[in-house]
Amino acid sequence: MEQAKIVLIILSILGGISSSPPLREVSPEFENFEEIIPLYKLPDSLVPSYYNVELQPILDEGYGTRFTAPGKVSINVLCLFATNNITLHALTLNISESSVQVREIVGGSEIPIASFDVDAEKDFFIINLQNGLRAGAVYQIYIEFVAPVSREVLYGLYLSNYTADDGSTRYMAITDLEATDARRVFPCMDEPSKKAEFEISIIRLPKYSSLSNMDLLRTETEGPGIPQGWVKDMYKRTLKMSTYLFAVAVSDFEVEEAAPGHYTKPVKVWGPPPYMQAGAGKYSPDLTAKLMTALENYFRVPYTFPKMDKISVPHFGGGAMENWGLNTYRLNRLLIEDGIATESDKISTAITLSHELVHQWFGNLVTLKWWDDLWLNEGFASYYSNTVLIDVGLEDILPLDTLVSDAIQRAMYYDVTSATHPVHYNVTTPTEIRIMFDTITYSKGCAMVRMMEAILTEPVMRDAVTAFLTKFEYNNAQQDDLFQVIDDQATSLPGTDLTMKAVMDTWTLQSGFPVLYVSRTEGSGSITFRQAKFKTDLNNDDDPTPSSWDIPISLYLPTDVQVNTSAVLWLKKDAPIEFFSIANVQWFIINPRQTGYYRVNYNRASIRPIIEQLHTNHEAFDPQTRSALIDDNLNLAYAGYSDLTDALNLTMYLKNERHLVPWTTFVTNMAKPYRFLSRTAGLSAFKKYIVGLIKDTLTEINIDPQPNEPIGNATILRNKLFEWACNLDDSECIQYSKNKFAQWMTDPSNNTIIFPDLRPFVYCAAVANGGDAEWDFALAQYSAANREVTKTNLIRSLACSKSVFRLARFGVSMISSVITTLSNTLNKAYDITDIQRFIRDNEPALQPVNGTLQTAIGNIENNIKWSITLTATPDQPLTVTGVTEDDERDFYIIQLESEIAAGAEVSIQMEYVAQIPTSGAGLFYREYQTETGEVRRLAATQFESVEARRMFPCFDEPDLKAVFELTVIRKDNYTSLANTELVSSTPENLVTLIITHELAHQWFGNLVTLKWWKEVYLNEGLTTYSQYLGMEAVSPDLMGVEFAILDAFQYSMLYDASEYSHPLSNDVTTPDEIDGMFSTISYEKGASVIRMVDGFLTRETLRKGLQAYLKKMSFQGAQQEDLFESLEEAAVADNRLPAGLNMADIMSSWTLQSGFPLVRVQIANETAITVSQERFLNDGAEDPEGSSWFVPITIVTADNPTLENNIPQVWLEKDVSSKAVAHDVSKWIMINQNATEYVSIEAALNLTRYMEQETHFAVWSTFFEHFNNIYVKMASHPGYSLLRDYLVPKLDAALTAVGVEESPSHTGALAILRADLLDWACSLQSPLCFTYANQLLAQWVDNPNTSPILSVDARATLECAIVAAGGKPAFDFVFAKYQDSGSNTELKNEFLNALACTTEISVMNELLNKTLNTTSGIAPGDASSVLNSVSSGALGRTIILDFLSENLEDVITVIGNGGLQPITGVLGTLQNYFTTKAQLDKLEAFVAAHQERLTPINMAIRLVIQRIQDNISWMDTTGFDIWMWLWFSS
Ligand SMILES: [Zn+2]
Repeated sequence: MEQAKIVLIILSILGGISSSPPLREVSPEFENFEEIIPLYKLPDSLVPSYYNVELQPILDEGYGTRFTAPGKVSINVLCLFATNNITLHALTLNISESSVQVREIVGGSEIPIASFDVDAEKDFFIINLQNGLRAGAVYQIYIEFVAPVSREVLYGLYLSNYTADDGSTRYMAITDLEATDARRVFPCMDEPSKKAEFEISIIRLPKYSSLSNMDLLRTETEGPGIPQGWVKDMYKRTLKMSTYLFAVAVSDFEVEEAAPGHYTKPVKVWGPPPYMQAGAGKYSPDLTAKLMTALENYFRVPYTFPKMDKISVPHFGGGAMENWGLNTYRLNRLLIEDGIATESDKISTAITLSHELVHQWFGNLVTLKWWDDLWLNEGFASYYSNTVLIDVGLEDILPLDTLVSDAIQRAMYYDVTSATHPVHYNVTTPTEIRIMFDTITYSKGCAMVRMMEAILTEPVMRDAVTAFLTKFEYNNAQQDDLFQVIDDQATSLPGTDLTMKAVMDTWTLQSGFPVLYVSRTEGSGSITFRQAKFKTDLNNDDDPTPSSWDIPISLYLPTDVQVNTSAVLWLKKDAPIEFFSIANVQWFIINPRQTGYYRVNYNRASIRPIIEQLHTNHEAFDPQTRSALIDDNLNLAYAGYSDLTDALNLTMYLKNERHLVPWTTFVTNMAKPYRFLSRTAGLSAFKKYIVGLIKDTLTEINIDPQPNEPIGNATILRNKLFEWACNLDDSECIQYSKNKFAQWMTDPSNNTIIFPDLRPFVYCAAVANGGDAEWDFALAQYSAANREVTKTNLIRSLACSKSVFRLARFGVSMISSVITTLSNTLNKAYDITDIQRFIRDNEPALQPVNGTLQTAIGNIENNIKWSITLTATPDQPLTVTGVTEDDERDFYIIQLESEIAAGAEVSIQMEYVAQIPTSGAGLFYREYQTETGEVRRLAATQFESVEARRMFPCFDEPDLKAVFELTVIRKDNYTSLANTELVSSTPENLVTLIITHELAHQWFGNLVTLKWWKEVYLNEGLTTYSQYLGMEAVSPDLMGVEFAILDAFQYSMLYDASEYSHPLSNDVTTPDEIDGMFSTISYEKGASVIRMVDGFLTRETLRKGLQAYLKKMSFQGAQQEDLFESLEEAAVADNRLPAGLNMADIMSSWTLQSGFPLVRVQIANETAITVSQERFLNDGAEDPEGSSWFVPITIVTADNPTLENNIPQVWLEKDVSSKAVAHDVSKWIMINQNATEYVSIEAALNLTRYMEQETHFAVWSTFFEHFNNIYVKMASHPGYSLLRDYLVPKLDAALTAVGVEESPSHTGALAILRADLLDWACSLQSPLCFTYANQLLAQWVDNPNTSPILSVDARATLECAIVAAGGKPAFDFVFAKYQDSGSNTELKNEFLNALACTTEISVMNELLNKTLNTTSGIAPGDASSVLNSVSSGALGRTIILDFLSENLEDVITVIGNGGLQPITGVLGTLQNYFTTKAQLDKLEAFVAAHQERLTPINMAIRLVIQRIQDNISWMDTTGFDIWMWLWFSS
């Protein structure tokens, strides 16, 4: 067997994305949520008052079962209501039932026990008593148990370790219990309101020390329960506290103590000796002591525990934990090591330290009553942890400003996602409680505290906080308790008669937040306010119960000396609108500093002056306000509330911005467009925009960090801008990174060369823009690193490589060299999370090697889980000394130090990972497709006859029978089946696996070697290309291979278009120059050029040529001429080249010069296009050398739509800059469809840029054909206005050229072109069309009997435009025309269609109502087509479903003559135009409301819905790209 080497992991690939299930199913009899809670909560009959807990964590071999903690607990409980059972929490504990005793404390009489029950779902351990307990009596419960010291999870009591300087592994045991994990350490009443006092004892070996919440009372070296050689630390009794704050640590850590004078009580920091000896423990102790003093002074409530210990833990699930008196931390959140730690680490550490310290009051002293109010802990801790930093002199790190970008705006971002929930949120089960530890609780909670303080003013809020802490100390509180204290303190809120409770209920009991509409009439002093819930898509009108809030409105004016954040006005939740008058000022700011948790949507008259002010002097607004303006305006524009152009225009002021926080907001908001643009033509414009903005600031703060520059603004800002500059290929940034990295490569042990904060970006840029040398160096440093952060930075930099083949090698190296050699350090769940995050962060760059990386994860999991334990009965020590494998016989042999005694029963525990192949042997998987085409997988077993060994180590022979117990862990969207009935189930995430293959190559380089390094591509390019072929050959269906090669292609083009590029064949002499040849050019461009040869010669011919080359040059040195010669022979033999071309000329044009051509495709006339070439350069600069190439061009057209092979129809020769190609331009055309040619094509959308000068009918009709789909789909999208802005000038220009007004020259094709242009221009409401339409109406009214429109082609369009542009009078006029038109059906229909063009809602309703009334003048026979016309219009689409819904029966009886035809007609029209989720929801709601009536057309409805779903996904992909393209092209 090969278990150790194999890797698995599947079950849940492509499991389909199901929306997360409701948190709990509420059965009808439990409508009221509150009634369910008791089912998961402990009964109220008993209240604990005191625990005595003793634990003996066994970390070493030879003292009983290693990695367990035998323990004892006594619990004193007061009986409130008579009961005959005791319910405790216990989970993963091995409880000795025979040890359990219950006795009454007074008198000591024992209460006999009847039986025990376990409720696994609720984690209950129930002691049933023979006689009941009496109300009012106090009892003591005594239990002995064994708790695990877990190696698998980072909660409960668990194991961590570090590597000592001598290379040995040292262990520690630590607790992490919030929210519901105390029950994993000792039986207890594990709810926050069940507070009690604790006496804790730890039994340990003398080589360790222990810590707990309290001071040490004494250490005993002998006594009952203390094994020989162990000692017992006994701790003083705590004050009343919740179980989740219980803490113990057993370690051999070293300590740093705070200097005296900063605080009245001892403060100590503990950490692993290698870190402490490097001085990493010096930063935190004094800072902690100062913070304690500052917090005591601020809250005016003393800290009542005797000391404060802070311990760092190498493996920690969260960032830190506030256990009373013993805070626990992730290493880099407590220890700051010179030369390793970054400035950001220092800032995060300061904030984390103070966060945990605030919890000593908010959380520890006053605890939430239940987890539904978790924000009372976390919101306050998040807010005051920042404000208190000012009091200890850390204002440089801008704690108040960064709150805006890092907490408030982050909360707003999260609060509109589907994962959001109200701040106060009902939760009951441990799984639900865990969900509460999210951005809403922390960041929105923080926003709530900050908003309350802004409303009350700081002194009033502080008084309320002191009162709250005093009133509820050692007790529990709910949010209403807090609001009550505030309302008692501040008898009224400034500016309103509302109470704080009334206000805050609107903010804490519902999710989301409002957008405040602010309108000021130009030049007037009156402002109006109204509110609506903010949505990420304005068109989403699916808000069944409109939310509203009590909104405090604060104001900042140019005349204000100081920002005042308390409200001058309130917009109450039930008030539709408020007015406010201000003096005549140039501008005004609503909600300065974003203290109110809402967005402000100014009308144009209000935002324009603000933008102007930002551009002239942005410092008129403080940084928090500037940040808020950026965040609001970008997000409002993204969601379609306001104009994106205005928002982008606003951001242009950033050229002058030097403050961190507005920049943070900006770059955060640029992530989305960047992600989408990274694969589109808009990227270069985007780069220009961003780099243009950041350049000045980056230069001013200096790209190179200066010694002793202040922490805060400059450093963190540089980090952010530097990262963007490098990602966007800014040459200065890349050059800086390459230089620094090169210096480091010459002096690897020097850790002062690269500034710690910049390391991730410098490494990344250097590896991305470097060659094998940089790569190999980074990999070597990674292997040698002994600090987590260094490893993380380096592993991430490896992923930055632009070479997918290097990445593929990376995956392979990871497994073979890194993972295997580092299995000692990379063996924790933490490592997996980190690597998984790194894979996620680097999608899609890592897509091609995803399988390899997943394999690496599997290996680490192996390392974590790999352990073999043998226990024998009777007790006999069995030590594993080694394992061997016998591949031939499938044996796995465990060697033992001593023999197993005959007659002993041995239990073997092994952890392993099995493979799930597709073949039907062992555990295997199969795929099937659902009705909707979604691929699902299932796993099953087939063991007969010798395949069980493939799934688990076993005695796999038929006569070795045994009894089996089987557990299957699955994702919750799967079910499992086994031989016997299900006992219980636990969900867990499993990782996916896609198998990839190592790529082999031995020919190019070894068999045939280079003559000299000038043509490295002959080795590397050919090898890279054959790797690609190998990948494809071995696994043709492997997702991502094609993608990988295209990516390689694009990356090399990116590089090749830059100034760093070099020719494939390049004269080099010095070692440095030779080194430079191992570049993306030699690898990927080399491969891409060979791939192009594959295209134009065909693979068969290329293979012939390569074989001849290998044969001819075996064991010799080759140069490129040798290759060309062999290729030429093959090309001639197979007749692959047109006359006059030869391989040497073609190839030399690609290998002797750098760069590649941009092929432009333009329409020459109706029967031809021109293709032209010029060198493509990244910055669009002109090519001084006028380079050209032999360019093969493949073309597919409507007439010839499939490409048999990639043989080019056209060659553009070197020195020929352009060439005409016959083509019927009314048909579509695609150039380089398979992207085999190493060229960049500018066609498609960019072609349309030239349309303004175009008056060819055929060209325009192609254009209309292309854009019709885009126009229809985008009609309901926020991008519509951009599309309109893009098209209207082109249409108007062409229309002006053709002639808007009718003229005799408009005949034939020109008449049709004019009609088409008018149709488009009028639909897009072009001013040119509307002016003309009004003019026509006036003529017509003057002379009603003669239509001024002669053109048959344009008549319908213009009649429609007349109604659209002319309002109600035009409607009435055309309606009269309709009635007069007698029996002329064609004319009647034309007028009816025109009537549906109205843009006024009241008129539209009038028209719709007329269709239902047989006496209105609209004939019943015409009504149906009116409905269809209305449905296809912009306004009609939004109201037609409401109309149908209200009048369904009338529509069916009057219009449909009893049938459903009118409904089918409308739905059939809507399916073309509905493109958003909101529209689909609306349609589905309509269908649901009339389900019974619509049954006959169910099938048609299903097709309509399917079509709309297709539209939605089109909008999410192509539609978004087009939107972005329009945005950055306009
Ligand atoms: Zn916290």
